Amino acid sequence: MPIFIVLLGPPGAGKGTQAQRVAKALDIPHISSGDIFRENIKKQTDLGKEANRFITKGELVPDDLTIAMIKERLSRTDCESGALLDGFPRTPAQAEALSKILSEFDGKVNAVPYINVAEHELIERLTGRWTCRAQGHVFHEKFNPPKRAGVCDFDGSELYQRDDDKVETVTRRIKVYLEQTMPLIEYYKKLGILIDINGEQTIDQVTANLLKALEKVK
Ligand code: ADP
Ligand code: ADP
Repeated sequence: MPIFIVLLGPPGAGKGTQAQRVAKALDIPHISSGDIFRENIKKQTDLGKEANRFITKGELVPDDLTIAMIKERLSRTDCESGALLDGFPRTPAQAEALSKILSEFDGKVNAVPYINVAEHELIERLTGRWTCRAQGHVFHEKFNPPKRAGVCDFDGSELYQRDDDKVETVTRRIKVYLEQTMPLIEYYKKLGILIDINGEQTIDQVTANLLKALEKVK
């Protein structure tokens, strides 16, 4: 049976950081909706141009575009054993669409770790985040610095600060999260698959907690 995991948490909680580690440990693809949008923006596709209008304002990209993009990604053969979703779903309509898509592949959402971090800590994490141009690896200037400033430890590519990581956009993104994504916590709690994870620990401790919790699910 495939295993599908949804990582939930506010912007800056550590979803991308943890998703890369957990996906590797479980040997399933890491699917980040934000990374796919940024890839499309870089290549200046129609989807990228449309999505960018919302992303620069800290708003969500409309559900229809986002759902179609994820559906296409999940239909690729590397998802036959499952996937770790990071940044999707973000609205109740996306969550409904996801269960429908997965049921077409004889799958379902098996577990939803929710990484919880206080708001003041999120702002500090996001405004100090440095992202790798090639593959989206993330670092933090204080909490998780790269070995050489401005260079990715994993692939040697340049690190940059995302436009939407400036303080005004970060504040808007957190507000959008509270209004539109928070309801998903209740939704998955009712399904009995939400797993609370304390995100205010070191990166290694959070990974250890996630892997331990997911061991029971497999
Ligand atoms: P998200 O994908 O949820 O937005 P990221 O994984 O990109 O979050 O992490 C946001 C920023 O916080 C990055 O700069 C990352 O290096 C840093 N970070 C991630 N986890 C921790 C942690 N446990 N403690 C301190 N900083 C962290
Ligand atoms: P973070 O990791 O900091 O939470 P992401 O990289 O996941 O940020 O997302 C960056 C931006 O991309 C979001 O602010 C939003 O504009 C857009 N986006 C990403 N995923 C979704 C989604 N599932 N639905 C709508 N918009 C999304």
